This record gives sequence, C-alpha cells and structure tokens, in this order.
Amino acid sequence: MIDQLFERLEDIYPELVQFRRDLHMYPELSFHEEQTPKKIADYLTDLGLDVKTGVGGHGVVGVLKGNKPGKTVALRADFDALSIQDEKDVDYKSKVPGVMHACGHDIHTAGLLGVAKVLSEVKDQLEGTVIFIHQFAEELAPGGAKPMIEDGCLDGVDVIFGAHVWATEPYGTVCFNEGDMMAASDAFEIEVQGKGGHGAMPHMTKDALVVASQLVLNLQPIVSRHVDPLKPAVVTVGSFQSGEGYNVIANTARLKGTVRTFDEDVRDQVEQAIGEIAEATCQLAGAKYHYNYRRGYPTLWNHPHETQKIETLAQSVVGQENVKRMDPIMGGEDFAYYLKEVPGSFFFVGGGNPEIGAEYPHHHPMFDVDERAMTITGKMFISAVLDFLSDGKQTASLSQVKTVQE
Ligand code: MN
Repeated sequence: MIDQLFERLEDIYPELVQFRRDLHMYPELSFHEEQTPKKIADYLTDLGLDVKTGVGGHGVVGVLKGNKPGKTVALRADFDALSIQDEKDVDYKSKVPGVMHACGHDIHTAGLLGVAKVLSEVKDQLEGTVIFIHQFAEELAPGGAKPMIEDGCLDGVDVIFGAHVWATEPYGTVCFNEGDMMAASDAFEIEVQGKGGHGAMPHMTKDALVVASQLVLNLQPIVSRHVDPLKPAVVTVGSFQSGEGYNVIANTARLKGTVRTFDEDVRDQVEQAIGEIAEATCQLAGAKYHYNYRRGYPTLWNHPHETQKIETLAQSVVGQENVKRMDPIMGGEDFAYYLKEVPGSFFFVGGGNPEIGAEYPHHHPMFDVDERAMTITGKMFISAVLDFLSDGKQTASLSQVKTVQE
C-alpha cells in the first residue's frame, strides 16, 4: 500500500504547492489567525473528515477514522506567521505588509493536508484513527499547543509525530535526535529605576542608563562562570531602551531578554542568578529595579523508541545516506507540550536549496524553502502512521521493498 500512497502524494503535489503559496501570500500572525484555519477546515471537511474548529482558540482538528479498529496516531502542523516584511522576489510573496511565513509553517500545513487527503482515500483499509492537529500560534508564547491539549486534541492519542522543515539543511535530508532536541525558552524584563536629571549635573542623579549598561555586562558571566560548562545555556539581552535627550540623564532603563536551557536545575539557577545580579548592580548604584521572569515552552524531549522508528522510516524514504543525527537546537518549540503528554518524536526535514534561492535561515526576510520538502514530510508521516497502526509490520515490509530495489 505504501508505494501507492507515495505515488498519490506525488500526484497531488501541485495542489499542495498551490495551497502553500496561498498561505504564503496571506500570512496571519499568532493568535490572529482567522482565514488560515477556515481554509484548513474547508479542505479537511471536503475530504470527509470529522472536523473541529476553534480548538483551544484558533486550532483545527481533523479526525480520520479507519474502517477497522486500532490505535490512534496524531500528526501536527502549525500555521502561524511572523512580523517580518517579505523581501523575496517571487510571485507568491506575502501580500500582507510586515507579515510573513518566514519559518515554513505554510509548508507544514499544506504538507499535512496532503497526508490527510492521501490517507482519507484509503480509509477502508486503515486499522485505527489518525488525528490531524492544525495548531495556531506556535511562534508566540504561551502558544497554541497548550490550549489545544486542554481542549482535548490529544484525547485517546497513543503517539504523536511532528516535523519542521529546516532551511539550513539541504533538501532531500531528514534529521532526527533522541532526547533533548529543542530548548526551554523563557523571557525576562528588568526595569531599572534611577533618578533623572540634567545631563550636565550627573552628581545630582542616579543614571539608569549607566546602571543598566553595567547590568548587561554583569549578566554575561552567568553562562561562562555560573553554569556547568557541560550543560547548555543562553542568556541574551535583546532589547535596551533608555534615555530621550542628549542632555538628559535617563530616569529609567528597560532590558528585555531571553534564556534558553535544557536542564530544569540550570533553568532555575539562571532565573535566580539574573535576579541576584540585578539586585547587586542596582544596590551598588542606589537605583531600584523590577525583575520579571516568564517561563515559556519547556524542553522538547524526543522519546527514544519513537525517534528510532523515525530514523528507520527515514532511511526508507530518503535513503540511509540522507538521514542525519542532528545536534539539539537552542530554539524553542511548543510541540514540547504534546511530548509531555504522549510518546512521539519531532523531526526535521531539509528544505535548503541555493539553486532556487532557499539559502536563508529561518526568520530571515528572504526565507524560503524547497517546496518538495512537503512531499518528504508527507511520506514520513504516512510511513509513521502505517507503521504505528500495523504495530511495526509496515517497517518490515518497507525494508523488504528497499532490499528489492537495491
Ligand atoms: Mn517554526
């Protein structure tokens, strides 16, 4: 059956490209998705799936029940875009000023719809259920995954798989990693309250800009001197706002930053260290401060058994030489929440191809990927569904197919 499904996916590829380009032209920001979920729901409804909209907010869930009873596999794609101006010169360039699919979530969505279409056509032969989770707001904490789970999108699910197209890996590859794959991602803000005044009379003031500058530097040794060097951590101050005039000493300064970690103890340690350093730095200068630390997505931990499955299936889909173990990424991903509830794996599908201009990193104004990554993602998902629903018998037959071809 698998070869027939792969062929069918290739057949409908132009339709997936069309769907993806439409999303690309009309991207919607996290938590503001209105048309995108409607388009997805219409497509799934036309396939005859049971469709729920407004799941956890803007989410869409399609349920494909096979004619025979069995286990339940969930597949997830996200569909939100970013506040970035699209600067590509292509006819499917974003038509919404300042908003762009610069992370490939349009590719994820169209690819997953292709899987839904192909599998819906063989519903009679399916033993079990496939749940298509189309998730809103991945890019912005608190994210869409949590509310969708709370709204029941994982009810009855035995295993879940998700994929991310990856522009910095070449098209044709599939990358995986067991255990820690993406970092816990937190945000912090520190407001320094000094005492403003005349730029020529510093002795009468407490310069918030100078205090905050020292604070930025004092935060640097957290990673280099506080945290165990064998445990990854990032502390980035990404925003510094202070001062208004050339002859005015700043009354306040505001710092915003992000913390990335894998280990929960390191996460606690960094949160505490930032607070202590802020306190000490401000105290020394006689300034006051307010510190706010917000926990975002947890560490994405790939379950070993399911990830080994992904590796085996990928060898059949793209050939052993194109399957790669990937280093963990310090970026965050709210797929982490699904993996805290049920076993599963989140893998990466190469989408880079300099020949078509797909050579920029994620979140870049020129970002694009090779759209054929949708087919590879689709084949991976189809393989994972058949394998899981057939309790591994499918993997056996897949490797037989491969041996015959060789
Ligand atoms: Mn993304």
